Amino acid sequence: MKKAYLYNKDSQSIKCLACKHYCIIKEGKTGICHVRANMDNDLFLLTHGLIAAEHLDPIEKKPFYHFLPSTTAYSLGTFGCNFRCLFCQNWQLSQVIKKLSNFDASKALNFLRTYSKEIDAKEAIKKAIHLGAKTIAYTYNEPTIWAEFVKDIAKQAKKHKLKNVMISSGYESNETIEYLEEIDAYNIDLKGFTDEFYINVVGAKLENVLDTIETLHKRGKWIEITTLLIPGKNDNKQELKDLTAFIAGISEDIPWHVSRFHPDYLMQDVEPTPISTLERAISIGEEAGLNYVYIGNVVGHEKEHTYCPCCQNVVIKRQGYLVENYLDEKGKCPYCSCKLAGVWE
Ligand code: SF4
Repeated sequence: MKKAYLYNKDSQSIKCLACKHYCIIKEGKTGICHVRANMDNDLFLLTHGLIAAEHLDPIEKKPFYHFLPSTTAYSLGTFGCNFRCLFCQNWQLSQVIKKLSNFDASKALNFLRTYSKEIDAKEAIKKAIHLGAKTIAYTYNEPTIWAEFVKDIAKQAKKHKLKNVMISSGYESNETIEYLEEIDAYNIDLKGFTDEFYINVVGAKLENVLDTIETLHKRGKWIEITTLLIPGKNDNKQELKDLTAFIAGISEDIPWHVSRFHPDYLMQDVEPTPISTLERAISIGEEAGLNYVYIGNVVGHEKEHTYCPCCQNVVIKRQGYLVENYLDEKGKCPYCSCKLAGVWE
C-alpha cells in the first residue's frame, strides 16, 4: 500500500484522477475499482507492491502483432477493475474483490494482503531480464487503476532498455496518460460501439474510450485494438461498420484484432462466436480501409498472418504463438520493401 499520486483533495472530499470515472471517495471507502481508498483523508493505492498474477508470455498473446514479434513479455497483473464486464475472462482477478469488500477499504486491504504476492519494481525487472523478456506487460486486470505501481516498474524497465506495454480497456484519464509517459504501446479493448452495450454490459461510457484512443494516437503511442465479438450483443453489421470507420478515421495502420468469444463469468448462456461472424467482421474492417485485421482465438486461420499491404504477400506467418517473421529489422517487406507500420526494433 502506498499513497497515490493521481488525486485531488480538499477539506470535503478526495477525487481520484486515475480513470475517467473520477470517483469522489469517502473516508474508509474505495472507488469503483475497489483498490484505491480514502484513508485518513488521503488516497492510497492498496495494490502498490502486490501482484496477483505473473507469467512470461509471447507478446502475441497480449495481443500485439506489430510490436517486437516473437519476443516475450514479462506480464504482471493485480486485483480489481474499473469495469464490470459480464463476459470477463479474468473475473477472478477483476471482480471477486468487489463482492468481498463492498467498497470497504479495510476489507479490500485484508483481501489483497491474503491473496497477493509482494514484489517491488527492481525485483520485477531483475526477474524479467533473467527470463529474457524484452517487454514488461501490465495486463490481466486493468492497469490504469494501479498506475502508480505501473509507473514505478516502467521507470526501472526504461533504465534497463526494456519496453513497456499496457493492455487496457481505454478508460485512462488524460492525467494518467500524461503520467505514464514510459508506456510505449497500448492494446485497447474496444468492446463494442453502442452506448447501450457499454452502459449495460460493461459499466462505462463509450465516448470516454474513444477519447482515450484518439489521445493516445495523438501522443504518438503505438496502438492495437481488440474487439471480442459476442453473438447478438455487439456483432451487428452497422455497429461494426461504425466501429471500423472510427479506427480507420484515426489511422488505417492500427491493427484490429477480432476475437472469438467463449462463455465465461455471468455470460454463460451465449454460444461461442461462429467463425463466419468473425470472417464477416474482418471483411467489414478491410472494406473500411484497415490494413491489418486479425482473427483471434482461432488457431490455424489464414487471418492470423500479416500480409504486406503493398504486395499482399505473407510477411509474418502465425499459427497460435508459433511465429515466422520475414520482415527485416526496420519492418520492411522482403518482397517489395514496403515498410509496415509497427515497432520492430
Ligand atoms: S481508478 Fe478506481 S477510484 Fe480512481 S476513478 Fe477509476 S474507478 Fe474510481
